[in-house]
Amino acid sequence: MHNTNPIITEQMSEPADIKSMTKPELTAFLARLGEKPFRAGQIFKWLHQRQVRSFEEMTDISKDLRNVLQKTAQLTVIKSVEVQISKQDGTRKYLFALPDGHMIESVLMKYKHGNSVCISSQAGCRMACRFCASAIGGLVRSLHPSEMLEQIYRIGQDIGERISNVVVMGTGEPLDNYDNLLRFLELLSDEHGLHISQRSITVSTCGLVPQIRALADRKLQITLALSLHAPSQEKRLLLMPVAAKYDLAQVMEACDYYFATTGRRMTFEYSLVHGVNDTEEDAEQLCALLGNKNCHVNLIPVNPVRERSFRQPDMNTTMRFKNKLEKNKINVTIRREMGRDIDGACGQLRKKYGH
Ligand code: SF4
Repeated sequence: MHNTNPIITEQMSEPADIKSMTKPELTAFLARLGEKPFRAGQIFKWLHQRQVRSFEEMTDISKDLRNVLQKTAQLTVIKSVEVQISKQDGTRKYLFALPDGHMIESVLMKYKHGNSVCISSQAGCRMACRFCASAIGGLVRSLHPSEMLEQIYRIGQDIGERISNVVVMGTGEPLDNYDNLLRFLELLSDEHGLHISQRSITVSTCGLVPQIRALADRKLQITLALSLHAPSQEKRLLLMPVAAKYDLAQVMEACDYYFATTGRRMTFEYSLVHGVNDTEEDAEQLCALLGNKNCHVNLIPVNPVRERSFRQPDMNTTMRFKNKLEKNKINVTIRREMGRDIDGACGQLRKKYGH
C-alpha cells in the first residue's frame, strides 16, 4: 500500500504530492519553505481551479519559488491513453495512465441536468464481486486524492465544460481507501477548488460496515450508495464475498445509522442478473428488507462480463421487478445504460490493456 499522507512523504524527503494537500496542509508546507500564507491560496487555485500541468504555468509565483517547488514537490498529472465516445448518447469512457504507469478508467455521462463523471478510487479491487470485471485481476493499489481529482480535472478540460456531479463508483472500493477518499471529498468541495457541492457527490460501497459508520459520523452531505444486489444474506454471499465478513443484517443496520446520523437518504444499487436475483420471490424479499426505509433503489440490468456467464433479464422481467417495488411504495429507477456501444462493463477497457 502506498503512503497516503503527503506530509509524511515530504518528511521522508520524497517530493510531496501537493495536489493531495488540503489548504491548511499546503499553507504549512509553504511556511516551512519560508513562504507567507497567501501563497498557499494562489498555488491552491493554480492546482484546483486552473488545473495546470506544470509549475512553470504558475505565472504569478516567483521563478525562485517555482524552482524550489520543482525540487520539493510533485505535481501529479494523469495521462489520457484512450477515449471511446458513444455515438448513441455521447458517453465518453477514458483510459488514464497514472504516474507509475498503472491504468484506470473513468466515464463521463452527459445528462440534461449536467455532466457527471464516474471515477475510479483504486487500480483494481480486492472485493472480488462475482459480476464485476474490475475484480478479476485483484487490487493493484489505492489511488491518491490527487489521482482521483485528476480524473475529473482532465475530463472537464477535455470537453471544455463544467462537471456538475461526481460518482465514486468506478473501479475500486472507495471505503477501502478511506483516508484518501475523505481528503479527496474535502478538496473537491473546497470553495477555492472545483467547488462541487457535497450533495452532488455519490460514493458507492459494497458494504464495509466500520467505514460506513465512521463516514456517517463525519456528517457529510454526500449520497452513500450501497451495492446491495441481493435480498438475502444467502444470495448476497453467492455474488459478493464481502458478505462473509459483514452480513446483510449488519450492513442494513449501518445504513440505518448513516441515514439517522446524516439525514441523507440512502441509495441501494441492485444489479439484476437473469436467474440469479430477478425472481418474484427476490422482489418480495427486497420489499420486506427495504419497505420501511426512506431510500431509493437503482435497478441495473447487469452488464455482461465476458469472463462470467451472467446475463441480463429481459425487459418484462425487469419491469415486473420494478412494479413490485413500486406497489410497496419504494422509490425505484431503472438505471439507463449509458454508452452501450462502447467497451462494455466497467473494467473492460483497462483489461484490454492487460492492467
Ligand atoms: S463491484 Fe466494486 S467493490 Fe465489487 S469488485 Fe467491482 S469494483 Fe470492487
